[in-house]
Amino acid sequence: MVVGAGLAGLSLALQLGRDGVRTLVLDPRPSDSMAQASPAAQVGGGTLITPVTAQWATKVGVHAALLRAEGCRVVDDLVGLSSPALLTNGKLAKQKPRPEPDISTREGALVAELQHKKGLVGAQSGYLNVKQSELENVIRGECSKAKSVAIAWGQSFESVVEEAEDGTLSCEVADIATGESRIVSCRYLCGCDGRGSRVRETEFRGKVEGFDNKEHKGMMLHMMCECSLGWDLDRAAYRLEQKSLNGFGPTIGGGACEPVPGADPKAYRLSVNAPFTMWAGSADPSESPPLSLLQKQLKPKLPKGAEISDVSWSRFYRMNHFVASSFRRGSAFLVGEAAHSHPPVGILPMNAAIADAADLAWKLSLAVRLGLRPNEGGILDSYEEERRAAAEDTRRSIAGYFSDLMQGKLDPVRYARNDCGLFSSLPEASQMVVRSDRAAAYPVRVGEIPPSVAGLLLTNTMSSKSFQDIACSSLRHKVFCFCSEWPVKMDSPFGGGESEPSHSGRIESSDRSDRSMGSEAETSIKRRGSAEVMTWERILQNTEFMLGRAFVSQCDFYVLHQTSKIAHTVDLDRHLSCDPVHVVDAESRLFREWFGEDALLSDTGAARGLLLRPDGRVGCIGEFPDFLEDLGHYHHRSGLAGGG
Ligand SMILES: Cc1cc2nc3c(=O)[nH]c(=O)nc-3n(C[C@H](O)[C@H](O)[C@H](O)COP(=O)(O)OP(=O)(O)OC[C@H]3O[C@@H](n4cnc5c(N)ncnc54)[C@H](O)[C@@H]3O)c2cc1C
Repeated sequence: MVVGAGLAGLSLALQLGRDGVRTLVLDPRPSDSMAQASPAAQVGGGTLITPVTAQWATKVGVHAALLRAEGCRVVDDLVGLSSPALLTNGKLAKQKPRPEPDISTREGALVAELQHKKGLVGAQSGYLNVKQSELENVIRGECSKAKSVAIAWGQSFESVVEEAEDGTLSCEVADIATGESRIVSCRYLCGCDGRGSRVRETEFRGKVEGFDNKEHKGMMLHMMCECSLGWDLDRAAYRLEQKSLNGFGPTIGGGACEPVPGADPKAYRLSVNAPFTMWAGSADPSESPPLSLLQKQLKPKLPKGAEISDVSWSRFYRMNHFVASSFRRGSAFLVGEAAHSHPPVGILPMNAAIADAADLAWKLSLAVRLGLRPNEGGILDSYEEERRAAAEDTRRSIAGYFSDLMQGKLDPVRYARNDCGLFSSLPEASQMVVRSDRAAAYPVRVGEIPPSVAGLLLTNTMSSKSFQDIACSSLRHKVFCFCSEWPVKMDSPFGGGESEPSHSGRIESSDRSDRSMGSEAETSIKRRGSAEVMTWERILQNTEFMLGRAFVSQCDFYVLHQTSKIAHTVDLDRHLSCDPVHVVDAESRLFREWFGEDALLSDTGAARGLLLRPDGRVGCIGEFPDFLEDLGHYHHRSGLAGGG
């Protein structure tokens, strides 16, 4: 059950629907508001989809529709996005022409890294400037096509009335129109009900020991509005600054001004500080500051003659953040603003809500499809491990930006790198990445989005694709195996032939130091293994074994080759439970990017592998047979091993 048909709830439902998971979405808004966006989107909401969210949109099949949404615009100048022109006391600061970024500059290096490593080229991968309401429309439209998703409008979650031993929850759901209640049972409850979350207040507060929705307070009181702005300046984003002494003294106020995506060339969103005398007061965020107050505060910061009219909405807000101390309690989860809320500014809050939903969705759908008991840990625990750390990062990032702004130390290149999401990693604490000391030397680390490479030939369709195309092709796990030679030599736990292999993934340990030379796990692999010539088929059989049959049914397999000859080998892959796709990487570019030039030069034919999670992040990476052991750990940690 997904509580809330806002951005987080819809994103979660869409992905669950794509995976065929039966999903009920509740929202108290009446059904005749079907075409309307969530309350947050109606009063503004975010306007920028980051490149990493754009990749998610491609995976769930809404990217093309987003590009067609009203007013949607692709932004590929990532650095420009974080360095809008400056208006000081209404005067446009002289802008130094930005030199064409070359590789010797930080901006040039970032652009090169984005293009060459992350495949950030063209409309498929840049930022999308689009209204949150349009984004919700597109996602809601897709949800309505999914057979396994039902949205119940006019229905509000009240509380959980009973928790069965197996984790199943019986929930009271109220019909807003009639005032009557009914009981709905669900295996999982996802609180996507925004800042004032009822799921959080009824199912976490008082039920999780020491639970807190910790507030990080900011002093400043701000105002925000959407309006019609009449002025002569170009339609672009501006930073507003007010200085005393006719523009030469210390800063005494600031704000921002950005065009609202859409057809109206005069539509702008303006933010500005409220008068200092109001900061200590208790202005309620649901209150609307009057036009006269907005005008008074904005006038000294906008050019002479600028006219503000037709305010469609206005809000007070403070630079406050709230982060819940737990995102999961048994079968109940907090997602999006129910779990962590931030000031309604910039790029991150809206994208963080989608990222929470994207992360929980693949974990939940695996848990449902492979039969994990709702109360069990593993893959479901990793939601909190990964997303709470991300919420703290979002808080630090927003706070850092405003602190830099106050001190006049803006660093647009750093924000561009951080905000795009393509360089982020997963926290050490996450169980759903297997960090191996042996892989420390590789350029790609677990938890990261690996580099993209174009020009890969998929021999099943004889089509040319980039790695990013493959990564975005579905919401399944993907396992890549690579070797420069074929057949390969492999010291494998399967290598002995006669003896039945044991599942080394079950030698579970959170302490990777047990893998030092002479450790029990390592010796057992050595003992079992025999360096015999293996075929790809054997490697994949080993891989299948380590992940378990049920898990394998949720994976796509790719075998990377340097030559297309492999495609013509007779009887390839005949004993596998899934058909691997053979990919020709003629120049070994993926191998270089993932394992490093040194590995290529010194390569002795050892096979290597990489497991890509459905969110496009590396789950484990390494050289066989260690990679097999890591796959076993990944599978075991997920808690899904029993289901297989
Ligand atoms: C004025 C404003 C400006 C913003 N500007 C930006 C920006 O510039 N950049 C940015 O990144 N972000 C911005 N945001 C933030 C962004 O809109 C939010 O991060 C995003 O909407 C969070 O999505 P959500 O689904 O978690 O919560 P919400 O969008 O709040 O959705 C919650 C949903 O839950 C439903 N619900 C509530 N109670 C119940 C219940 N008991 N039962 C069932 N359903 C329930 C509600 O009806 C609603 O549909 C802004 C927000 C506002 C309000």
